[in-house]
Amino acid sequence: MELNAAAIKQWMHHTNETIQENKEYLTDLDQKIGDGDHGINMARGFQAVADKLNEQDYDTVSDVLKDTAMTLMSKVGGASGPLFGTAFLRFSTAVKGQETINATDFAKGIREAAQGIMDRGKVQPEEKTLVDVWLPTAQYLEDASEFDAEAMKQTAKEAMEKTKDMVAAKGRAAYFKEKSAGHIDPGAASSYYLFAALAEILGEEG
Ligand code: ADP
Ligand code: MG
Repeated sequence: MELNAAAIKQWMHHTNETIQENKEYLTDLDQKIGDGDHGINMARGFQAVADKLNEQDYDTVSDVLKDTAMTLMSKVGGASGPLFGTAFLRFSTAVKGQETINATDFAKGIREAAQGIMDRGKVQPEEKTLVDVWLPTAQYLEDASEFDAEAMKQTAKEAMEKTKDMVAAKGRAAYFKEKSAGHIDPGAASSYYLFAALAEILGEEG
């Protein structure tokens, strides 16, 4: 597996399409255990990312990731903006200056991103947040003997589904205490869409 700047750009564009398609579903999830704006936040953020990345051609993967991070931080209201922004910024730093990244670089980037979310959100695993998708996905990528996009997508999907049974300990969902169980975490769902979108663009090529 080898991704260049154009491929990362394509990944972000397809993530945007997926988020726009699922905007209402994400908002529904956030209505159950939050304030009902997650779909709106993510749709605004990723549309801004798509617009920003269209403005220029990029030489490095890290520059695409950095502009993605900065745009999410500035355009997304709510907790998820700085969290997704930090994730992409850490990913960018992990592959700084690289024109292409391979499976090992990608795994390192997602691991750093997951750690960034934990630092920024002061969140631990199993507290029912987006990190419960990023961490298992990072682990899968590190353990896989060969990069398999479909298996990564499946890992992210199962991780998202597992958040359903968790009781939220961070963010607005924590106010719902035990009542937060029984619903998928909105940030986990949008994180799944991100990994699914990558698997989908790679599947089209292969
Ligand atoms: P807000 O909670 O401000 O309305 P969003 O609705 O856009 O923001 O995002 C909610 C998501 O953010 C949650 O589903 C959860 O995944 C994530 N989240 C909230 N607080 C934290 C935190 N402290 N650490 C990690 N993730 C968090
Ligand atoms: Mg919300």
